[in-house]
Parts: sequence; C-alpha cells; structure tokens
Amino acid sequence: MTKKKGRVFSGARPTGRQHLGNYLGAIKNYVALQDELECIYCIVDLHALTTLDTTKSLKTNTYEMALDWLAAGLRPEETIIFIQSHVPEVTELHTMLSMVVSLGKLTDLPTFKEKARQQPHNVNYGLVGYPILMAADITLYKAGFVPVGIDQAPHLEFTREVVRSFNHRYETDVLIEPQMKSTKIPKVLGTDGVYKMGKSLDNHIELASTPEETTQRVMTMVTDPQRKRRSDPGDPDVCNVFTMHKIFSTDEDVKEINIECRRAGIGCVDCKKRFAENLNAHLVPFREKRSKLGEKPEQVWDILTDGAKRAKRIAEETMIDVRQAVGLP
Ligand code: SF4
Repeated sequence: MTKKKGRVFSGARPTGRQHLGNYLGAIKNYVALQDELECIYCIVDLHALTTLDTTKSLKTNTYEMALDWLAAGLRPEETIIFIQSHVPEVTELHTMLSMVVSLGKLTDLPTFKEKARQQPHNVNYGLVGYPILMAADITLYKAGFVPVGIDQAPHLEFTREVVRSFNHRYETDVLIEPQMKSTKIPKVLGTDGVYKMGKSLDNHIELASTPEETTQRVMTMVTDPQRKRRSDPGDPDVCNVFTMHKIFSTDEDVKEINIECRRAGIGCVDCKKRFAENLNAHLVPFREKRSKLGEKPEQVWDILTDGAKRAKRIAEETMIDVRQAVGLP
C-alpha cells in the first residue's frame, strides 16, 4: 500500500448483485476514499450468518457483490478487498472483546431489539454478539477511520467504548479507537417512491441489469402521486424520479424537467424514459468492466484470496499484541 493519510475499514454483508441504493449509499464512497486513505473493504459473511436461514446462495452472493465492487472502481492493487471468514483471527478477537462488554448492554442495544423483533424464530447468540464482531472487524485491522453516516454514529461509538474498556482493563493501548469518517449517505428510495431501495421489497434497480431491464424497472417508478393526468402540473420536489435525475442527469436536463414538470410540459412517461437513458449511459463503463471481469470468475476469487492474505498479515500482528496485552500464556 502507498503512503496515505490513514486507514479506513468498512464491511458489507454479501447481498449479491448490488443496486442503486448500494451504489449511492456505499460503493461510490468506497471508490472515492481510495484516493485519500488506505482502504480495507470486507465482505462480512460471518455477520450474514446471524440472519440467514439458509446459506445456499452465500457463495454466489459474495462473488456477485465482489464483481460489482470491482466493476464500480475498487482498485485491488492498492485496496484490500476480502472475505471476513478468510481471516479467522477476527473470531478470536471477537471472543476477547466479548469479555469486556456486559450482556445487558448488548441486549439493550436498539439494533439487537430490532433484529429480535424481525426474526423472533431465530434470536441466536450471534445476534447478541453482532456489535462485538463489528468492533473486532474494525480494530483487528487497526483502522483509524470508519465511513459512517450521521445516523450510524452510535454504532461506531459502541466500538469506541469497547476499545476503551479493553485498553483500560488490560492497561494497554494496543487497540485503536476508530474515528468517524463522516459521510453523507443519501437515503435512496426504491421504485415505489416510499421505502428505502432494497431487494426484500423488490423496489430496487440493479447495477448489472441490462439496459432493457433497467428501462423496464425505471418505467415502474412511482412519480408525484398528485399528478393523475398528463395535463396536470407536477411537483418534482416530491418525485423520486426527479431526485434520481439530479444524480444521474445533466444540469440542463434537471433544469428543463424542473420547469416543464411544473407546467405539465413533460409527461411522466417521457421523463422516466429520459432518466432511463441517462442512467444507462452512466452505467456503460460499469457494465463493460463487469462483463469483462465476469468472463474469468477465477480472477475475482484470486483478488479476494490475495486481499485475505494481505489482511491476515495485519491481523496476525494485531493478535500477537492483543494476546500479550491480555496475558495469555
Ligand atoms: S414529470 Fe418527471 S419529475 Fe415530474 S412528476 Fe413526472 S416523473 Fe416526476
């Protein structure tokens, strides 16, 4: 890795093909951070186990996600991209950190309560320890920064508390308290225009879809609900299509639609067609790169294996210090 101004770590569950919400909420930022910091990006398959009923698609989902990350611009020659379970030291650190956090604190966390509500049939031990595994991820790689949106700040604060407890108990400074790399994470609504874009609601637009599939999805997008007829003036400020135009269309397009929509000069069908065209144009380099990489899947697995080797080197060093600090014989 080249000399940069610090190290950043971020992990994401293997959710398969990525959609616009993933892109705008995380991947775009992952790519940008590479210019500034040493980046370690992890596909957190162990975290995924806490909520999965079946692991049949875990491997495919991991591969598809890595493929999307690479096609979107992650540079494996400088950035470490790897699979969490390929560096088992994380589970050892998880065990050590679990000794400095009370059970009551973990079961009181809003994220645990929410998960327990979502899957009452499977309130497993892993769900309780989830935040500790997250803290282990970050601290194992001595990450100084974690990119988080303002609403995720409490999660990072939890890790910082764990680090303080650990360092205090064992009178050490071996673990680093990570700082928040404050990131503006936009809330990307799905095609329904109401809920956050996601696969579970089937309101998503995948980056890897064909231009035709993308256009089809875009044409289903809900627009200004008050605009019932073509002749009704619309309000772009309440329309998710317009929000997307502002991200993917030219300033001229945005300006024109903003005016024409309000005076019913453009219909929603044409407006969505134009957005689909602009989005497809934007995705051309991504799709080209993805299809090229997809011709040799072993290359993607090699990148992940190489990433794990590099990550493991850092992890081993940390664990030597951690074991010593704890006083393990
Ligand atoms: S014209 Fe465009 S911006 Fe206006 S309501 Fe229809 S889709 Fe939305």
